[in-house]
Amino acid sequence: MSLIVQKFGGSSVADPEKVRRVAGIIAETYRAGNDVVVVLSAQGKTTDRLIATAKEYNPRPSKREMDMLLSTGEQQSVALCAMMLESMGIPAISLTGWQVDFKTNSNYSNAAIKSVGQERIRRELDARRVVLVTGFQGINKYDDITTLGRGGSDTSAVAIAAALHADLCQIYTDVDGVYTADPNKVRGAKKLDEITFDEMLELASMGAKVLHNRSVEMAKRYNVDLEVLSSYEKKPGTKVRRISKVEQAEVSGVAKDVNVARITVIGMEDKPGIAFGIFSTLAKEKINVDIILQTLGHGGAQSITFTVARGDGERACEILEQHIDELGFSGLDMDTHVAKVSIVGAGMLTTSGIAAKMFDALASRKINIKMISTSEIKVSVLVDEDDADKAVQAVHDKFFGD
Ligand code: ADP
Ligand code: ASP
Ligand code: MG
Repeated sequence: MSLIVQKFGGSSVADPEKVRRVAGIIAETYRAGNDVVVVLSAQGKTTDRLIATAKEYNPRPSKREMDMLLSTGEQQSVALCAMMLESMGIPAISLTGWQVDFKTNSNYSNAAIKSVGQERIRRELDARRVVLVTGFQGINKYDDITTLGRGGSDTSAVAIAAALHADLCQIYTDVDGVYTADPNKVRGAKKLDEITFDEMLELASMGAKVLHNRSVEMAKRYNVDLEVLSSYEKKPGTKVRRISKVEQAEVSGVAKDVNVARITVIGMEDKPGIAFGIFSTLAKEKINVDIILQTLGHGGAQSITFTVARGDGERACEILEQHIDELGFSGLDMDTHVAKVSIVGAGMLTTSGIAAKMFDALASRKINIKMISTSEIKVSVLVDEDDADKAVQAVHDKFFGD
């Protein structure tokens, strides 16, 4: 007998028929004698709809009230699925974040997990019930409801699996595993039998939303046995592991992220402390900066270009404007029509020329690169948003084409 955590995403539980199918998977696992903890997302587009509804009441709602509202989506899912399981003769109980003592910090709308209680879940498992827990939500020290950020139910599932020392954490979704690129958008994307935590973390962080990046980080930290598989077809998915058993390909995947804005700070003196001034000012306001490029223009004036999440772009400019005198720049320029295209692969550690191969693919399609950044197992380029899909396809064809 094993303890298995199964997470089902929003599209997998969108309507009664889909919930019935999901309940079938859960029932089969339970009837095989396993302890089963299920984590569910809100049904279909419920979270998007709740966000739109909130805006009808207040264009800038507080994050606390948003979390209160959005958490209801997951609550509906677990209750309805528990009802479905009961109708099939499977004892089941649904629980919210606070009922399982899912503690987070108070960063509303993007809360970090502090601890997950085991007591209640264990008690229900001991009574041979399937335990259904709301994804995406927890409670903070004020007993307020918090949420973990969009796509956060994956992270809830991995956190529960880690806390309970589960034997396996299965992430069921609308594709049958992790692919070399988004299989719904890229021709010729290939399914991976397995991928390392490090590669998956980079891919997820670079825009492959099949797993929430923090879920991968947590799975790596607690060595959770993680698998991505289909809610619709019974077949093996993709195993996410510490070390890959198959020989490393030079590149494991290509990802695209349109949640990017590029900001250029123009006309600063070329002297020590300039970069520190800009980035410490942004850090104080909790704005994360990604790619950074510094250039020296004619006459010794320098400019610094960097990227931030698109939603932070306006605020980053406002904050810099407020400090224009001490930072000493002459102008700001923001471009929100950009996208980041990345290749990820542990094979880069041992193979040379991978970045050049990527640039070749882009050049042959006449795609202009605006910025480049590299890490040990990743190369990212910033391109015009209109070129992004073409860029992903070209790069994917180059590395994975037959
Ligand atoms: P869920 O609702 O189950 O959490 P998501 O929509 O969050 O599902 O994630 C699944 C989607 O991720 C797929 O439908 C697919 O379009 C997208 N995706 C992006 N990149 C990849 C990739 N490399 N492999 C698989 N799916 C990917
Ligand atoms: N329902 C939340 C969202 O849509 C969390 C999740 O699905 O993982 O982002
Ligand atoms: Mg998801």
